[in-house]
Amino acid sequence: MEFPLIEKKWNKNNHSMDIVYPNKYYGGVYCLGPLIVYNIVNSMENWNCNRVFLDKGSISSKLIGFTLQYELDYYNVLKMLKNAGIPADKSMRKEIVFAGGPCISTNPYTLSDYFDFAMLGDVEETLPQVLRIFESSKSKEDFLKNIADIKGVFVYGITSNPDYARVTDFNNAPYPLYQPFEQELDGNFVFGKTFMLEVERGCIFKCRFCSLPQLSNTTGFRSMEKIKEIIDTGLELNNRNHVSIYAPSFIHPERNKIMKYLLEKKVTFTVPAIKIERIDYEFLSLVKAGGTRSITLAPECNEELRSSVGKYYSDEKLFEIVKMAEDIGFEGIKYYFLIGLPQQTDNDIEKMATLALSLKSKFKGKTYFSINPLVAKSRTSFEGIQFDRKIINHQAKLLTSLMKKNKVKIKPINVSTSFTEWKLSNALSFSKPRADHLHNDA
Ligand code: SF4
Repeated sequence: MEFPLIEKKWNKNNHSMDIVYPNKYYGGVYCLGPLIVYNIVNSMENWNCNRVFLDKGSISSKLIGFTLQYELDYYNVLKMLKNAGIPADKSMRKEIVFAGGPCISTNPYTLSDYFDFAMLGDVEETLPQVLRIFESSKSKEDFLKNIADIKGVFVYGITSNPDYARVTDFNNAPYPLYQPFEQELDGNFVFGKTFMLEVERGCIFKCRFCSLPQLSNTTGFRSMEKIKEIIDTGLELNNRNHVSIYAPSFIHPERNKIMKYLLEKKVTFTVPAIKIERIDYEFLSLVKAGGTRSITLAPECNEELRSSVGKYYSDEKLFEIVKMAEDIGFEGIKYYFLIGLPQQTDNDIEKMATLALSLKSKFKGKTYFSINPLVAKSRTSFEGIQFDRKIINHQAKLLTSLMKKNKVKIKPINVSTSFTEWKLSNALSFSKPRADHLHNDA
């Protein structure tokens, strides 16, 4: 059984909504989006919200919202609807099925044959409006017509100019203080029973493979006062002694104060991937003091090509951080690299392998490399770039052999999964792909 659950008095007139994470509980339980929805819906009079995962809970409401964090979960959406006996064909069902989350915000069209509507951007202000209209609508058709003009709602076939909703007052937006977990967790739950703390939203950086700059190019920061209030209440309510800080780039102006406050509260904490440009000794020491043993850095490629992905720092800066991490006593560093970048040549791949070797030799602790093909998504600066499997397979082979020669271990590079992700991310329709580039089987 999960704890803490939001218990509401049973009322036969209550409406209910399912918030569905179409993958395993051990991953979905750390996702903030569905938690935000769960707390908002349950905070409304006359409403109950059920959490459903691929392997936990079951779809049982008339209003069903999917949260889509990864394109590869699209297959599970169809599987879960089928298992619940709900027709995928929206004209054949009485239930109302909708979706939100980053995949939907970047491309709301891929699953448009199956969803009645999409929620684009932030939901804190839009979702209560949608639910109120649901309460007063006489039929499904009536409801869809009535929500079609709300900013952030995209009713397929009715909304003419879909737009993204941004929360107007991020600091005072409702925070998901209830964060339920099963009582017993196994080793799959990488962060254990943690309290998720979102301190900022949006991003000012312009990494060209990322959709966030186009969806939200300003960063909202919660005030220190609000953050303290959330920490105090959240830790007590959920009985937690670990905090996971959520922030796209963790550049909060008071980030050191936030970490010091958590240390005062005697809780351990983890931080998201950190921006190399913004690391200094005090910051990194606080991250270590919070109990983090390894850090994650994303140089993406060799120095010569780095500005073409929207990152502007030298290898020298990278080595400086590696030295700092070693002096502070981190046990490991994980690096992210990309292949399949525009203009990336064999020479760049060789330089990437040389850089990886230098990074490994400059750090006494463990070094891990995660190498992934570029998946050029909608609403990024790389949108429209083809996924050329022939080139990417060649680069993966070359890099793997260079790393092997230098005795640097890397995980196998999964080109076909990335190709599927690229197709789903760029498709205009899941069932009937219409874009010519989706037939590129090079
Ligand atoms: S820093 Fe992270 S969130 Fe910001 S643009 Fe780059 S990849 Fe996206």
